[in-house]
Amino acid sequence: MSTADAFAVTEDMLLTEDAVTRLVDSVRPVPGVETVPLLEALGRVLAEDVVAERCNPPYDNSAVDGYAVRFADLLPGTTTLLPVGLRISAGMAPDQRLATGSAARIFTGAPLPEGADTVLPQEICRADGAAVELPPMRKAGANLRKAGEDFQVGDVVLAAGRRLRPQEVGLAAAIGRPSLPVRARPRVAVFSTGDEVCDPGTAAPPGSIFDVNRFTVMAMLTLVGCVPIDLGILPDRRDAVTTALARAADGVDAVLTSGGVSTGDEDHIKAAVESLGALDFWRVAIRPGRPLAFGRIGGTPFLGLPGNPVASMVCFMIFARPLLLRLAGRSSWRLPMRRLPAGFDFKKRPGRREWLRGWVEADGTADAVVQRFPREGSGILTSMVAAEGLIDLPEAMAEVAPGDPIGFIPFAELWA
Ligand code: AMP
Ligand code: MG
Repeated sequence: MSTADAFAVTEDMLLTEDAVTRLVDSVRPVPGVETVPLLEALGRVLAEDVVAERCNPPYDNSAVDGYAVRFADLLPGTTTLLPVGLRISAGMAPDQRLATGSAARIFTGAPLPEGADTVLPQEICRADGAAVELPPMRKAGANLRKAGEDFQVGDVVLAAGRRLRPQEVGLAAAIGRPSLPVRARPRVAVFSTGDEVCDPGTAAPPGSIFDVNRFTVMAMLTLVGCVPIDLGILPDRRDAVTTALARAADGVDAVLTSGGVSTGDEDHIKAAVESLGALDFWRVAIRPGRPLAFGRIGGTPFLGLPGNPVASMVCFMIFARPLLLRLAGRSSWRLPMRRLPAGFDFKKRPGRREWLRGWVEADGTADAVVQRFPREGSGILTSMVAAEGLIDLPEAMAEVAPGDPIGFIPFAELWA
């Protein structure tokens, strides 16, 4: 088969979007749930909705240091002198009403006494012995935080499937939760394949290369909230591949391999997975990233990423990530996509979706534009290091001209 044929776009090819839908639909979230202390919940996936048993703020309170009054006691258009009858600091629970015709000295976060409806910041008031001089106010309700203005009792304040960031942890703390139920992390077995591939730290014999994919794949697995299980490098031998895959699939939530899925004589993954379960050998209209294999080993989902290091990373981001996020119990696995003007021109073959490596260039004088790494080879590791994201060129597009809006997928947001 010539190179041109290998990358030809044909009618029977699957669109990326459809392939992702099939992948996501083929799995369910892992069943395990554990309850962990708040700080350990950081970065985990919330397993159940969190319903507020307490509203926020829990009571009306002052937003400033100042004086709490009844608005009706203030004279319109002129200064009012009121005796200061109460002193309420944060942490106190006032047990007295604010007497009519008096003010309460109050501090930020302190509960508003019953009867008060307005707070004047101390900067605009003048304390005068046991009384205070208050300027006129335009309306009631100033400088206070009403009970429940943030959320009410019974509100779902955090929805299941959300990845917990510092602010979610803080919100759980605000309603008094010391711990949260989170999903177990999916356990994912990872293999590299190929007789030429050897481990860094070993002597590389002639004709060998060091394993790149196992490390990029395990690193990305960690970032999507999975536990990578390092199962090393598989030789290009069908029996060895079959035995190792069968053993690996037991007790994990997914199996990922890289390489060995082409149709070359030394590519045994396909036959091995077919013999152990089922394999869909997908022809997805993409570049880079073909071929891509998806199947099951017993009941365990299997994804065979391409061998070329750039292609395996791109395919992980586009195809493995949504599958793994679904397994991890996340409620959303959409690609984070921005639309920005291109800073380059490029011709592509219509019919397939292409990803280039690029970055956003903002020099401070002009609007931000997306630049692309000038070389395209799927083995150019430095392209991924130079890049900050993937430029996403849809199937229908034939060329890009400077200024054209194009999709950009920031790497950092893939792991958010
Ligand atoms: P394959 O799909 O097995 O034919 O691999 C395609 C290309 O990717 C070959 O040049 C391989 O040497 C290379 N490759 C495969 N696996 C890895 C790996 N784990 N690390 C780096 N390069 C790899
Ligand atoms: Mg190989």
